[in-house]
Amino acid sequence: MIYRPAKAYINLSSLAHNLRLIKQLAPNSKVLAVIKANGYGHGICRVAQQLSNADGFAVASLDEALLLRQKGFLHRILLLEGLFTAAELPQVLHNRLDLVIHSQYQLEWLLAHRHSVALNVWIKIDTGMHRLGFHPDAVQSVVQSLMESDNSYQLNFMSHFASADELQVHSQAFTQQQIECFKTHCQAWDYKCSLANSAGILHYPESHLDWVRPGILLYGAGVPIKPRHPFKPVMRLESQVIALKWIPAGDFVGYGNRWQAKKDTYVGVIAIGYGDGYPRHAKDGTPVVVNGERVPLIGRVSMDMITVDLSHQVDKVKVGDRAILWGDALLSVDEVAQCADTIGYELLTGITLRVPFIEV
Ligand code: PLP
Repeated sequence: MIYRPAKAYINLSSLAHNLRLIKQLAPNSKVLAVIKANGYGHGICRVAQQLSNADGFAVASLDEALLLRQKGFLHRILLLEGLFTAAELPQVLHNRLDLVIHSQYQLEWLLAHRHSVALNVWIKIDTGMHRLGFHPDAVQSVVQSLMESDNSYQLNFMSHFASADELQVHSQAFTQQQIECFKTHCQAWDYKCSLANSAGILHYPESHLDWVRPGILLYGAGVPIKPRHPFKPVMRLESQVIALKWIPAGDFVGYGNRWQAKKDTYVGVIAIGYGDGYPRHAKDGTPVVVNGERVPLIGRVSMDMITVDLSHQVDKVKVGDRAILWGDALLSVDEVAQCADTIGYELLTGITLRVPFIEV
């Protein structure tokens, strides 16, 4: 039994719904569902189970991939950052995992290891983000050294967008350059290609290619969602009102006396805080939904509690009433993230262990 009311509700049918929408948007591409970081904080196994219609999964580490294999998932599973140590390679082969290689040292580890099974290798090309990937001019020699080795490889190409989610003209131009660069350097070979993340899927159909790699969109967050793209939030973070009080004009609320009442104010205290993963940097005015109405956060976020202004709900609010912190039609995780100078990805992956997850 968990007595504290802070809970994360995971709507599994929304996940399946979002995957269907992605398939409609990219009908000619296979879908590599990105479920790293514990399924963007939603629970990697439940997410994989619900997305079993995807053509494959992408994860950040061998540990995540092995967990999926142990649970019986037979899908293609791509290690997005490849090998951290050469010692992982036998496990990768044994478990038939797909591998990114992004750097020369990984290429050398591959070439140094003799194996009889064919390995699916995704050569990552740095098309401008300058995080992971080979310089485009190096691609020819990477392909050549793999082809000349005694091992058998099934090769693929991939790259990653830096700013496809930003719709300013200069970001769009940059994304177009990345698309051009990728296509130019892949066209000499007949290998499968993957470029589009969620934003690419939504805004750059020409980037869909053979495989799309949606992450945040699967979870119904992260990118400006137009009405014709009715993605649904998967996580709803909820808690309850645990105290109510009037304070007079001029008094302060919370740590550091950050918020001062301009008029007499009815303050509600809600059992959620940064100890649960609610962002401590949420500003005054960050919306919270109480009894189906948006009300403003007032005062600093504490470890276990936040305070809100309920002056417009005096007659109807009571202790025990439901408060939604994000994930319903009135309040997206992205809006809360914006009020805390961060992104929805960080909030979704940041829910702490003491918060129970409830599948609905
Ligand atoms: N592909 C790669 C290489 C990634 O690192 C990520 C996420 O960071 C994704 C795809 C999915 O991105 P998004 O969640 O923006 O769809």
